Amino acid sequence: MTTYGNIHSVETCGTVDGPGIRYIVFTQGCLLRCQYCHNADTWSIGTGKQMSPEEIVKDIELYKPFMDASGGGVTVSGGEPLLQIPFIIELFKLCKERGIHTTIDSSAGCFSRSPEFLEQFDELLEYTDLILLDIKHIDSKRHIKLTGKPNEHILDCARYLSDKGQPVWIRHVLVPTVNDQDEYLERMGQFLGTLNNIEKVEILPYHQLGVYKWETLGYKYPLAGIQSPSDEQVEHAYKMLTKYMKKPA
Ligand code: SF4
Repeated sequence: MTTYGNIHSVETCGTVDGPGIRYIVFTQGCLLRCQYCHNADTWSIGTGKQMSPEEIVKDIELYKPFMDASGGGVTVSGGEPLLQIPFIIELFKLCKERGIHTTIDSSAGCFSRSPEFLEQFDELLEYTDLILLDIKHIDSKRHIKLTGKPNEHILDCARYLSDKGQPVWIRHVLVPTVNDQDEYLERMGQFLGTLNNIEKVEILPYHQLGVYKWETLGYKYPLAGIQSPSDEQVEHAYKMLTKYMKKPA
C-alpha cells in the first residue's frame, strides 16, 4: 500500500542542502517554532499536497543527469521530515534502486528512543546516505526560547547517530545576541567533540528572508532588529564549534 507524503513544495536544483546539485522535497509539518524560521508556512501538520513516492521519484529522474554530474542527489527537508518516516522510507528505497544519493535535513524535533520510533528510524537510516542535523542552541532553556521546545532529545539524536556511525553534517544558524556568545559556542564545540560521525560543520548566517512569510501568515516576527552576523563572526563561530572535533570538519 502506498504511503503518501504531505508535501509543501519541491525545488529541482538546490545547491545548499547537501553535496552537489539536489532535488529538494520540503515536507509539511513541524513541531518546532524557530524564531528565525523562513519556512513558517510548513508548520501545520497534515496539510500540504498529498504526493506518492512514485510520482516524486518520476520527477526526480528528470534531474538525475545533473545530480550524477555534480555528485548530488535528493534531500528531504521541511518542515520536519522525521514526522513522515514511512513515506521517506518508500521514497528513499526508490532512490537507492536508481543509485541516487539520499539526504535528510532534520532538526530532530520529534526524535525519541521509544521502540516504535527507533524501529522506523533505523529502517530509514538503511536507505539514508547523509543527515544534515540542525542544532539550534546548545542551552536547553535558550533552545525553548528560540524554538518553543527543549533540546535534550535533539542532542540525544546526535548521540544516537554517532553511536550508529551515520554520516552527519551539523548545521547551526548563527543568530547574533541569541546563540553567538562564546559561552554557548564553547559548550556546543565541546558537545560536538564527543561525537564520532561528524563529516562537516556548516554555520548558516542568520538572515531575514522569511520575515515576509511571518507577516503574510499574520505572525509578529520575534527577531526584528537583529542583523546578520559578519564574516568574522561566522569564521569565529566555525573555529569554536570545530576545535574539539576528532577529525577535521
Ligand atoms: S525546525 Fe525548520 S521548519 Fe521547523 S520551525 Fe525550525 S526552521 Fe522552521
